[in-house]
Amino acid sequence: MTGSTRRLLVTSALPYANGHIHLGHLVEYLQTDVWVRFQNLRGNRATYICADDTHGTAIMMRARQEGRSEAELVAAMSEAHQRDFAGFQIRFDHYGSTNSDHSRKLCERIWASLRGAGLIKEREVTQLYDAEAKVFLADRFVKGTCPKCGTPDQYGDSCEKCSSTYSAQDLIDPVSTLSGSKPEVRSSPHLFVEIEKLRPFLTEWTQEPGRLQPEIANYLKGHFLAEELRDWDVSRPAPYFGFEIPDAPGHYWYVWFDAPIGYMGSTAEWCEKPGNAERFEDLWQNEAVEIHHFIGKDIVYFHTLFWPAMLKASGFPLPKRVQVHGMLTVNGEKMSKSRGTFVLASTYLKHLDPSYLRYYYMAKLGSRVEDLDLNLEELVAKVNSDLVGKVVNLASRTARFVTELSPSYPDDGGLFASAAAAGDEIADAYESCDFARAMRTIMALADRANELVDQKQPWALKKQPEKLGELRDVCTIILNLYRQIVVYLTPVLPQLAEQSRALLGAPLQSWEEAKTPLLSVKLGEFSHLMQRVDPKKLEAMIEESKPEAPPAAPVTEGAATPALADDGAALAAEPLAAECSIDDFTKVDLRVARVINAEHIPEANKLLKLTVSLGGDTTRTIFAGIKAAYAPEQLIGRLVVVVANLAPRKMKFGVSEGMVVAAGAGGKEVYVLSPDSGAKPGHRVH
Ligand SMILES: [Zn+2]
Repeated sequence: MTGSTRRLLVTSALPYANGHIHLGHLVEYLQTDVWVRFQNLRGNRATYICADDTHGTAIMMRARQEGRSEAELVAAMSEAHQRDFAGFQIRFDHYGSTNSDHSRKLCERIWASLRGAGLIKEREVTQLYDAEAKVFLADRFVKGTCPKCGTPDQYGDSCEKCSSTYSAQDLIDPVSTLSGSKPEVRSSPHLFVEIEKLRPFLTEWTQEPGRLQPEIANYLKGHFLAEELRDWDVSRPAPYFGFEIPDAPGHYWYVWFDAPIGYMGSTAEWCEKPGNAERFEDLWQNEAVEIHHFIGKDIVYFHTLFWPAMLKASGFPLPKRVQVHGMLTVNGEKMSKSRGTFVLASTYLKHLDPSYLRYYYMAKLGSRVEDLDLNLEELVAKVNSDLVGKVVNLASRTARFVTELSPSYPDDGGLFASAAAAGDEIADAYESCDFARAMRTIMALADRANELVDQKQPWALKKQPEKLGELRDVCTIILNLYRQIVVYLTPVLPQLAEQSRALLGAPLQSWEEAKTPLLSVKLGEFSHLMQRVDPKKLEAMIEESKPEAPPAAPVTEGAATPALADDGAALAAEPLAAECSIDDFTKVDLRVARVINAEHIPEANKLLKLTVSLGGDTTRTIFAGIKAAYAPEQLIGRLVVVVANLAPRKMKFGVSEGMVVAAGAGGKEVYVLSPDSGAKPGHRVH
């Protein structure tokens, strides 16, 4: 260690108060939490600040739709966000809101500085305006026909079909998504920051070694900073949910102006908590404090150009480092609601231990700006083999055999000393946010310790009364190696550290504890430290994350086709079959099943390949002749009825393990049966 204690102020980007926390968000909050815990374990003083980002048109419109005030909406969302974060053991020193007096005062202060520095200018802006909803329309609230390729139903900023970008005013036949009315073009004055004046400063600041990852620094230099920076539009005319600009009544700061100021506002709020001796000035106006921002690659522009420009112009110290991460994919694809991979934090917590995701993400996260792929099979394998099979195994194979550790540390062939020496390398990996390297190095230590367990076989020593002394020595070595590993994993697995503390009867509060063996202590009761991942619970989480199956058509009189209009054509076309007994009927095992996948078979004209789940682990592959009537995406997620005990049938494209029950004459006239809502996969149809 360097000896002197560093003072750090660490932030994650502020989650927007318009939606719930999902596994994609957690890539950022988990790594920031791990990094902060690491710093504190090393003896530094790191404070973790966050807040909800609450302003903007989206919040205003959602509050209107829900018939409540913005303040009510924002308060409810903040509570939900904080509950989710706490469930994942993310420990903020303070979690505030951008909609606070502290934030407002800081916005005013920074604004006055920008004005004073001559960086603000006014210019007319024409924008689409919804005269019915009485609101200027952000791009996401306008749809129309792409001016480039003519595809209808495209958003106001870019076309999903041809990927071109344009201004909302260029859309053909634009429609407001708020009221459905045709927007009009209105002009209004906006206020701009002339950020170009700070380009020399920004060029120097972004290129300083250690400030940004090299790929980000190079990207900024090659793209934005290579040419004149465009003025930044920071005001929005009323109505807008945000802070009114004091010297421009009727105009509000754009949400991205006050969002980063929320880092400061939340800190100020924290400092004023009763009993907190911290002072805002000591944190945000003190060059000795290191400010570290963790952000996603989608908001680099705001944090590496606008934000330092605002701080510089108003005389605040600048961030020491901005750490950028990539986005989350699941099983190699974007998170998807229909596949059940758009998983909310709260849904995960209903089924699985947060430690699994904390470890898995860190085992995957390097220091480069790369997307992180959550592969569900890999998560199961990694947690089971690394955490349960390697780490927890060390304690569970030794702690039951001894009640007390030996008074002096036995000869272990240098294992403890070399693991103690590895501490610096592991710390270096954590410090540089190369969490994957830290986890690999720690697991290599666990491998060596397990080799010793296999070699010494404490369970065999236990059976030989004359070898109890040796047994205690072996367990003393293994439990000390275990404890070293847990110290190194404490930032990632605070719960395991807590449980191990109870077992070993000694504190686990400092990185330095990995350097000295623990001797002569009485061991606490051994309790289960961590369970293997149950794949059924993982499936249940995915299942719960899927959209509800479309409801079955209502069986009511006066429906689209009145009962009286039902003619006898269908029955005549296929007369009733010969009579059967109830025993004949019960031979056929009909079950409710959920279609978990459906795909085209390129060479087949009539068949779709379906994978259906009967609940739990039981799935079936069924080739169904319904291609003319259904697109695969219409079927994924919905409940159907299958003949579950039909003998498997070898077909040209594979073995079909059942049959989906459907009505109709065939071809396009095929109607798959669905149960009423409430039925579950596996229910038998009687
Ligand atoms: Zn287009």
